[in-house]
Amino acid sequence: MKKLGPIPDGFTTTNGELVIDGAPVSHWAGQTPAFVYSAAMLERRVAMLRSAMPDELAIHYAMKANPFPPLLSRMAGLVDGLDIASGGELRLAREAGVEPARISFAGPGKDDGELSDAIMAGITLNLESEGEARRAFAIGERLGIAPRLAIRVNPDFDLRGSGMKMGGGPRQFGIDAIRVPALVREILASGAEWRGFHIYAGSQALDAAAVIETQAATIALAARLGEESGVPVPHCNLGGGFGIPYFAGDTPLDIGAVGRALDGQLSKRPAILRDTAFAIELGRWLVGEAGVYLSRVLDVKESHGEIFAVIDGGLHHQLAASGNFGTVVRRNYPVAIANRMDTLTMERGQTIVGRLCTPIDRIAENAALPRIETGDTVAVFCAGAYGASASPADFLGHGKATEIIF
Ligand SMILES: *Cc1c(COP(=O)(O)O)cnc(C)c1O
Repeated sequence: MKKLGPIPDGFTTTNGELVIDGAPVSHWAGQTPAFVYSAAMLERRVAMLRSAMPDELAIHYAMKANPFPPLLSRMAGLVDGLDIASGGELRLAREAGVEPARISFAGPGKDDGELSDAIMAGITLNLESEGEARRAFAIGERLGIAPRLAIRVNPDFDLRGSGMKMGGGPRQFGIDAIRVPALVREILASGAEWRGFHIYAGSQALDAAAVIETQAATIALAARLGEESGVPVPHCNLGGGFGIPYFAGDTPLDIGAVGRALDGQLSKRPAILRDTAFAIELGRWLVGEAGVYLSRVLDVKESHGEIFAVIDGGLHHQLAASGNFGTVVRRNYPVAIANRMDTLTMERGQTIVGRLCTPIDRIAENAALPRIETGDTVAVFCAGAYGASASPADFLGHGKATEIIF
């Protein structure tokens, strides 16, 4: 038997049905497969984070976690800044009404069209290489606009225990710390607007001690690079990496402890960072738990004594739950039979699969759940981040899932 991950806080039940912010899931019965995002949960998450973090810390939303336009508009009204990673995301951010001064653009491989759109709009570019910096100078000169430039630093450390490492050693992201001071001087000499550092060390960390350690190292690195470059640092994006519990045994990140430690670090920061504005950028922590992926059971069959329930969705919508998005060992996400929440008798050895013709399309494996029947509704939790937009929706031609925010 494989355990299921923990169902996030904030969901209730009524008459055996899962309730998402006051609405029982039968409300969306005719609309599966669907992602339902709770706007109230988004508000609660941002409020929780603000009360835990130092007042001076700006909160940015990394929109690649979930770019669904109505969700993005909600988030834009809740956070201080938006981090984007492509020209397409820039368009969505502008359509959501986000002012360019609140947007920063990271990501390796920005083409000249993206650089020029970003420079014209006046957003901050987090430079990923010297080559990109020089292209930005040239485009700025051609347009007669001073580009707003920050440097994404490849730090000498990574975020301990993080699911995806984004720093430390050779990386495709950012510029090695040792080469940063020379580039800062080039940026100043070019007449561009100097915007500081972006230092992102990893993702999906649940251990507060690891996050605290990384933030302390990040502040120390920003100070050292400021000293070595001989300039103050107007802005410092400390990255993020706050994780959410997906699997059995995972526990939530203690953001209270992280906030208290950060407050201490900021209050005793080196003089060169005295006037620096600090931000963190989070994706999944803000939106992941607010999303539930709902599907309907099309068929239940038995094979060699095991039960297979086939849903009307699958990995083409929720790749991460199938274990094929950045995980090494497949483990079960939090999953429930949303119309049998009151059932106490669990039947072991049930596997929920998607409708794709590939054995990797498994949403829950060898799990203990109420006995599944055709027509049941399956809820996959923690589906608000890296779900719909991070899954191969065209694979096998069943089409996209509906996305709903309420
Ligand atoms: C993906 C990404 C994020 C968001 O990561 P989460 O794990 O969703 O919080 C933040 N910053 C950068 C640079 C990223 O690439």
